[in-house]
Amino acid sequence: MSSRRATAVSTVIVAVVVYLLSLFESLFPFYATLLAVIAAGVISGLVTRNPLYGGVAAVLGGGAGQAAAIAAGIQITTPIPQLTPILFRVFTTAGMFAAGIILGTLFRALGGKMEEVVVEEKTEVVEEKEEAFKVCKFCNEQIPVDAIFCPFCGHKLVEESVKSE
Ligand SMILES: [Zn+2]
Repeated sequence: MSSRRATAVSTVIVAVVVYLLSLFESLFPFYATLLAVIAAGVISGLVTRNPLYGGVAAVLGGGAGQAAAIAAGIQITTPIPQLTPILFRVFTTAGMFAAGIILGTLFRALGGKMEEVVVEEKTEVVEEKEEAFKVCKFCNEQIPVDAIFCPFCGHKLVEESVKSE
């Protein structure tokens, strides 16, 4: 997935998830918001695997989800009385941006480790293939070690390998 597409996809998912979690605000005051911040970071980080794109997707999706919640008249519970609901939403949207950056970094690091493992496995396969070859005594071509006939010159090889063992 390209980084632009990953950013767009995660922005949409984050917006939907943040809006849906805001519906639980009356049941779980503050915790629904906290979960929305974590979810915004995890989704954008996992999809983009990039700190910058993850942060952008989290803040755009989070902002859109919160704007939809405001438009739907969903109340938010602020943990500090001095913090107005709108200010608290701005604050949590900034938190989503930070969560996107942090989890984008984390998932990129994890993705990098996974790629390293894949490269190691591929190297092992190549080594095995190299071991599984021998050189034909008649034409000097590389041929499978268990070949009965040389695929290049057609000489029979089994008797030769039996004698040499
Ligand atoms: Zn040969």
